[in-house]
Amino acid sequence: MRKLEEVLNDWEAVIGLEVHAELTTLRTKMFCGCKLEFGAEPNTHTCPVCLGLPGALPVPNRAAIEGIVLAGLATNCDIEKHSMFYRKNYMYPDMAKNFQTTQGPVAFCMRGWLDLDVDGPAARERHGLDALEPGQAEGNVTRTEEGYTAHVGITRIHMEEDAGKMVHVGGGEGRIAGATHSLVDYNRAGTPLIELVTEPDLRTPEEARLFMQKLRQIYLALGISNCSMEEGSLRCDGNVSLRRRGSSALGVKTELKNMNSFKNLHDGLAYEICRQAEVLEEGGQIYQETRHWDPTAKRTIVMRVKETADDYRLFPEPDLAPYDLSDEFVEAVRAKLPELPDQKAARYATEHGLSAYDARHLVDHRATADFFDACMALAAAEGDGSRFAKPLANLIINDVTAYMNAHEGFDLAESPLTPERAMELVRLVASDAVSSKQAKEVFAAVLAEDKSPEAIVAERGMEQVSDTGAIEAVVDEVMAANPDKVEQYRGGKTGLLGFFVGQCMKAMRGQGNPKVINELLAAKLDA
Ligand code: ADP
Ligand code: ZN
Ligand code: MG
Repeated sequence: MRKLEEVLNDWEAVIGLEVHAELTTLRTKMFCGCKLEFGAEPNTHTCPVCLGLPGALPVPNRAAIEGIVLAGLATNCDIEKHSMFYRKNYMYPDMAKNFQTTQGPVAFCMRGWLDLDVDGPAARERHGLDALEPGQAEGNVTRTEEGYTAHVGITRIHMEEDAGKMVHVGGGEGRIAGATHSLVDYNRAGTPLIELVTEPDLRTPEEARLFMQKLRQIYLALGISNCSMEEGSLRCDGNVSLRRRGSSALGVKTELKNMNSFKNLHDGLAYEICRQAEVLEEGGQIYQETRHWDPTAKRTIVMRVKETADDYRLFPEPDLAPYDLSDEFVEAVRAKLPELPDQKAARYATEHGLSAYDARHLVDHRATADFFDACMALAAAEGDGSRFAKPLANLIINDVTAYMNAHEGFDLAESPLTPERAMELVRLVASDAVSSKQAKEVFAAVLAEDKSPEAIVAERGMEQVSDTGAIEAVVDEVMAANPDKVEQYRGGKTGLLGFFVGQCMKAMRGQGNPKVINELLAAKLDA
């Protein structure tokens, strides 16, 4: 198979995503009062409604409707005041009712959009960018200085319920093939689920990945889901087809089911694009089918040929009245919208003078953004305004993020690195009390020993020496000890400056202020 970049020269990929999110932060299920709890003893959270027993009547969970309206408002959707629930009929043991309650042609949220900022290596997959000037637009893309912005339409977000969970026993790897029997756990059945469907507006696997990451940030900011791709509370199906460059007709698509990580979503789509290109180039045909991405074997395999909507016999749910949302309800939900990641990033740029890059990385995680906000609130209280915004952003983006990535489950909000301590560390560096190199050691020690930066600096005798007199004495000593090198330097080998700085640093056990050392050395050597 050819490489993705080559394939995308000849073919345009058309991608649309279907993203399911469980509203895990709710206390109860969608149509009954059963408790929502991940990992509970199987079948302990069930009742006649979510088991589909005859005569049981569903009652919609108002908090779940609030959750989906929040999602819709945050993704620029129109909120439909009048919508209905439908029955999607199918027979499978994971759904005791033999139908899933979902929404019909009109969902709570319709016609939204998100803009994706794509830059760096991620922008390389997009074709034809070189022909555009910054600010220039073509199709759904606007060229920016660093890459481009892609405008992605959202068809709808509808409300539905999750099915139970099947566990296949006796075969290899929990697959149904080869299993001797299967178990079913209905705890998950009836979990409120929102499904977002995008327009086929995405053009590269990177855009698909960025869309998912951005949506996850938004849902996390809204607090409607824990969005765990491993636990399955955030799941994504990728639809993809190809067409010749220049053509505007849609090709036949395949659907990749349940991509459970950002990497799998990207790699699965990239593979599928290359596979389809090969089939089409050999004169073959793409069939509309559901495929499974196997990240170990690095290929997709057919799961099933697509069923059509007719197969589900979708019809209005007779046990639930059509839903009417009042203006008051929608406005009350709108009033609860928190500051969203994009708004936050824009504020960091205008209010604190951060670069777009720094701002975007701070809002990558809700924890780091909250932490930055808490630190800036402290700085404001001290009358420091945005003076320390940039070094603080560096500390968070470099050190804190690296620590978070290396320590799974690390909770910044509960960690020994309090906003007070972070600001203390930033001030120690700003006042030259410690060097930026020492700051790394202090940072690690704060987390490891749960002490304040000042305490650590004092205990370890780490104060940086900026006293010119003390440094001058060391500089003189080093020069006196290396007369040959001094001569060479003065003869034109100015590259030796680094050697002298190193010697001074060594003599001062790393505590000399490198800036002062450099200045004094240069002055004395050039004298
Ligand atoms: P289906 O009926 O197979 O579920 P939908 O029309 O509901 O298809 O679309 C499902 C998803 O697939 C949407 O995200 C949509 O944007 C995307 N999609 C639809 N047609 C295509 C196509 N030809 N190529 C790529 N994606 C597509
Ligand atoms: Zn129940
Ligand atoms: Mg569909």
